[in-house]
Amino acid sequence: MDKKVYELLNDQINKELYSAYLYMDFANYYEYEGLSGFANWYMIQAQEERDHALKFIAYLQENSQKIQLKAIDQPNKTFTDFIGPLEAALEHEKYVTSLINDIYSAAADVKDYRTMQFLEWFIEEQGEEEDTADTMVTRMKLFGGDAKALYDLDQECASRSYSAPAE
Ligand code: MG
Repeated sequence: MDKKVYELLNDQINKELYSAYLYMDFANYYEYEGLSGFANWYMIQAQEERDHALKFIAYLQENSQKIQLKAIDQPNKTFTDFIGPLEAALEHEKYVTSLINDIYSAAADVKDYRTMQFLEWFIEEQGEEEDTADTMVTRMKLFGGDAKALYDLDQECASRSYSAPAE
């Protein structure tokens, strides 16, 4: 495997685990604020990010590459309102999309078609992640100012359940 492609794939394990850490931090914020539905939503989001990290690990292993796990950064955001984490999540997912695109470009540069094909799942996933994060922001803007509507949004988030990713 090309050295640059390898390094980007290996780094992405860390980025996905950081995403999990970040979303756990959001979950903790909401739990503390009494919105346990939103907390549930972000705990599940964190599980999905861990799954993403595992996909990168499995891919590198399948390609006989040595994995180097690195230190995970500490989430350091503080929030003053309920929309804060939702906006931060949207911004973060856009950043992750740019990372996936960078790996794809590096793989294309060296004609690593297998890695390009592997990344297609993530390209599609990022489209969904951005769409979902954007919807969360929009709905909080529309309804978050009303206590009853906020309660309903929280209840809806509480009903989300985790399912393992399709292969
Ligand atoms: Mg991810």
